[in-house]
Amino acid sequence: MSVLKTEKIKDKLILERELLLAKLNGNDLSVDSSETPDPVDLAVRNYSKNVMLAVSENDSRQVILINEALTRISDDEYGTCQNCEKPINPKRLDAVPWARYCLNCQELVEQGLLDEE
Ligand SMILES: [Zn+2]
Repeated sequence: MSVLKTEKIKDKLILERELLLAKLNGNDLSVDSSETPDPVDLAVRNYSKNVMLAVSENDSRQVILINEALTRISDDEYGTCQNCEKPINPKRLDAVPWARYCLNCQELVEQGLLDEE
């Protein structure tokens, strides 16, 4: 896996995980009671909160995927499809660094043709 810049990917994954965890914990949406937010700000916060609730399940799932990807980096298995064990396209990893599967297998998952572990 020496062709992949796993150090960079690792940084990216860790950063992404921090953002997700902050989002899941609501840190970025916490309202400081000492300040008086203007109505626009409040509307934005409420909107973000609704969106956040809607996506939080995906986010939790993504944190798990990121943790798995980090484990694969330390095990030197990163970039290998978890189903067919073929290398995952580096372009795909660049866009989706926590990808478990190559594009073919991902399609199977989305069609419900592959059982995820
Ligand atoms: Zn595959």
